[in-house]
Amino acid sequence: METTFDIVVIGSGPGGYACAIRASQLGYKTALIEKYAALGGTCTNVGCIPAKALLDSTEHYHTAATKFKTFGIETEKLSLDFKQLIKRKTEVIEQNVAGLNYLMNKNKITVFQGIASFLNSKEILVKKNETEDFKISASYFVIATGSKPATIPGVTIDKTRIITSTEALSLAEKPKSMVIIGGGVIGVEMASVYARIGVEVTIIEYADSLIPTMDKELGKELKKLFTKQNIKILLSHKVQSAQNNGTTATVKYLDSSNQPQEITAEFCLVAVGRRPYTEGLGLENTAVVLDAKGRITTNEQLCTNQSNIYAIGDVIAGPMLAHKAEEEGVFVAETIHGQKPHINYRLIPGVVYTWPEVASVGYTEEELKEKNIEYRVGKFPFSASARARAAMEKDGFAKVLSEPKYGEILGVHVIGPRAADLVAQGVIGMEYEVTDEDMFRISYAHPTYSEALKEAYLISSGQGAINI
Ligand code: FAD
Ligand code: NAD
Repeated sequence: METTFDIVVIGSGPGGYACAIRASQLGYKTALIEKYAALGGTCTNVGCIPAKALLDSTEHYHTAATKFKTFGIETEKLSLDFKQLIKRKTEVIEQNVAGLNYLMNKNKITVFQGIASFLNSKEILVKKNETEDFKISASYFVIATGSKPATIPGVTIDKTRIITSTEALSLAEKPKSMVIIGGGVIGVEMASVYARIGVEVTIIEYADSLIPTMDKELGKELKKLFTKQNIKILLSHKVQSAQNNGTTATVKYLDSSNQPQEITAEFCLVAVGRRPYTEGLGLENTAVVLDAKGRITTNEQLCTNQSNIYAIGDVIAGPMLAHKAEEEGVFVAETIHGQKPHINYRLIPGVVYTWPEVASVGYTEEELKEKNIEYRVGKFPFSASARARAAMEKDGFAKVLSEPKYGEILGVHVIGPRAADLVAQGVIGMEYEVTDEDMFRISYAHPTYSEALKEAYLISSGQGAINI
């Protein structure tokens, strides 16, 4: 067995596998170490992919239940096969894991299953199981060990009634009710999955808005749309405890007037953020240090305090997003190779896969106000889009923020159909520092959802919309 490598990557999530592939493409003898039998990390196994599989299934169901009749489609009797919904999700994961196995083979990356722990800065111990372990040495190591769900004081996750997204993605039966602590990304995506199939969902959020880190207008609009989907939303409410009653869970909280209240549901989903995962890594045997939030400290090259150990993805600072982890994986492999790669952290888009979707890039209005940066706003509702009317997708809007003098785009925020894909043009535009005028003087196919952004650019430029 080969035990000496140029680069060893620890963790096979989107950060780790992208780094290993790029390292191998650059000619390095590369190994990837993963604790679990399946490659892909959180994203593939218990995150992005299974969440999107359930979101797609339940969105189809919801469309059939609420829109088919108007479209002129009659169905005999609509019913939901929850077990099949979960089975399909598992199959989607398996397809993605198979794809990763193929990529590891194709790129001649040596994969080891086991838990990696540093013995010193050049050597790790890989523990395959209780009785088997072996040592591996390398010139460089890349830590890509990701994150785990976090909780709050008074709430102990027991994975039976008080659960995380991992359990919520694999329930055995459709529950009757669910209370979700946290109205961030996981909270609203899982609320969508369950509310669409008739589960009674309540979101308790500490902040005064859903998805509070995004442009405030997006959260406001999402709240309006969620209320129409029968999701109960409690904002500015503070959870104090959660208790497992056997077949239900009770959550106690202070309401917006600071009055104690409680709610009981079949499951309590804790979605209050994730924490970096470094347990058992043996970092004490290296010079690698953690910051106050438990994240591995890195410099601008993503190198830790130990010059041959790098760290990427959820385990370091920055947004906990798969595409951010992937960018960093490629960045580190190229940096080790002596290249000068660059990541524009301001232009990492954020997407929430509710329906309609929510997507953002660049500054929010709140950030511009806080920084005293002048801006103008262009906002176009999908209700005025011909494409949206045809598709019965009239909810939401496209919003563009631009700098008043030259019109440089400062932020693009969309809540609406296919927002996740629409935001890509905002990323390109902002990367190349184009203006709102540049963006509206190019041709947009008609009828498309993208025309809503063209109209928003027209409005922010001051010229005025054509279609409103
Ligand atoms: P991870 O994907 O967490 O992978 C780390 C890997 O390291 C794991 O496989 C772990 O087993 C392994 N590991 C840890 N310690 C060791 C060790 N000592 N030895 C060996 N292996 C080890 N992001 C998006 O961009 N879009 C989405 O739609 C999205 N949806 C999400 C939905 C949910 C429900 C959740 C929970 C997350 C979602 N995310 C999404 C976030 C995304 O999953 C993470 O940002 C991403 O997976 C981080 O990648 P990573 O490579 O840093 O770590
Ligand atoms: P989050 O940070 O997005 O949201 C957590 C929410 O919990 C916040 O709104 C916070 O105000 C609230 N909260 C905190 N303490 C609370 C309390 N005591 N009572 C009530 N509310 C409280 O975290 P998340 O939703 O758990 O997601 C974790 C990570 O996973 C995020 O960083 C996210 O980027 C990533 N993720 C991304 C996607 C995506 O890109 N579509 C999907 C899911 C998860």
